[in-house]
Amino acid sequence: MSNEAIEKVHVLIIGSGPAGYTAAIYAARANMKPVLYQGIQPGGQLTITTEVENYPGYPDGIQGPEMMVHFEKQAARMGADIRYGLATKVDFSKRPLRVEIDEEKWIEADSVIISTGASAKWLGLESEQRLNGFGVSACAVCDGFFFKGREVAIVGAGDTAAEEAVYLSKLCSTVHMVVRRDQMRASKIMQERVLNTPNIKVYWNSLTDEVLGEHKVEAVRLLNTVTKEKQDIPVSGFFVAIGHEPNSGIFKEFIDMDETGYIKTIPGTTKTNVPGVFAAGDVQDKNYRQAVTAAGSGCMAALDAERYLTAEGLA
Ligand code: NDP
Repeated sequence: MSNEAIEKVHVLIIGSGPAGYTAAIYAARANMKPVLYQGIQPGGQLTITTEVENYPGYPDGIQGPEMMVHFEKQAARMGADIRYGLATKVDFSKRPLRVEIDEEKWIEADSVIISTGASAKWLGLESEQRLNGFGVSACAVCDGFFFKGREVAIVGAGDTAAEEAVYLSKLCSTVHMVVRRDQMRASKIMQERVLNTPNIKVYWNSLTDEVLGEHKVEAVRLLNTVTKEKQDIPVSGFFVAIGHEPNSGIFKEFIDMDETGYIKTIPGTTKTNVPGVFAAGDVQDKNYRQAVTAAGSGCMAALDAERYLTAEGLA
């Protein structure tokens, strides 16, 4: 690592979803001069959703991408330095903390807020990608409402899929749950809840062959791996709930994570195992994963960073 061209930053925020921007708003207002790198998907996961109706303060709802523009504008107005760029490497072994940007320059930071989010896993079908936002969704809580009274399908058999299937069953007429094996991975209690819900129909040993529809989802074609039979089920919505991947790879060497890569924080705080490094939003939350909870934890991270810097005499 060269020592040339190292920029010094007080609070470095990595990631630009609700957690990162909220941290930036709070840090800027506290005069901590935050620098925020937006990452590969400026605005985060909300930029690939359509309407957001459950974020408080928008009584008529708002488009996800537009809401993230609001977040960015607010952070910029408060004085946050918002930049394009991707954190590509870190060195948290000593102080100041070091973060490499775009594989070309290093930044030295007194504190770092990791808000790199998580990415939904997808099946990888062309039709799934083409109809994304037109009936295909990876978030039942975000988009289930749009399918009120209609039939939907959900793929997956973990706790998320089970929880989302039950959630959808309260809104939709029928939920067709597509399970690739002859059993579910979800906890027993969640499985029971699914199996005891009359309007959830489980398709065991079933793969999604194709999502059907020209401009919006009209049906899903399933392949039974035992009988090799295919069947088309008319649905208006197709939910993918096969897990998320936290965007935490570059921190692995230094930051404690669970076995699936979610950053561990000290409960009730955003503190990681490295003093001065805080984590907020989906990269440390596999449970709630909502814009509003991410924003809340971004606020917490800024406050935690401020207290840390004051205690260390770095404020
Ligand atoms: P998981 O990794 O637990 O489950 C993913 C599911 O998707 C599995 O059933 C898997 O099938 C299935 N799957 C994966 N790839 C495909 C594919 N290509 N086609 C079809 N099916 C596929 O992810 P979750 O998001 O459900 O949960 C993540 C973690 O969060 C877990 O530890 C879970 O317990 C926890 N969680 C806890 C909650 C709670 O306590 N309230 C709520 C939500 C999550 P297979 O089983 O065959 O591998």
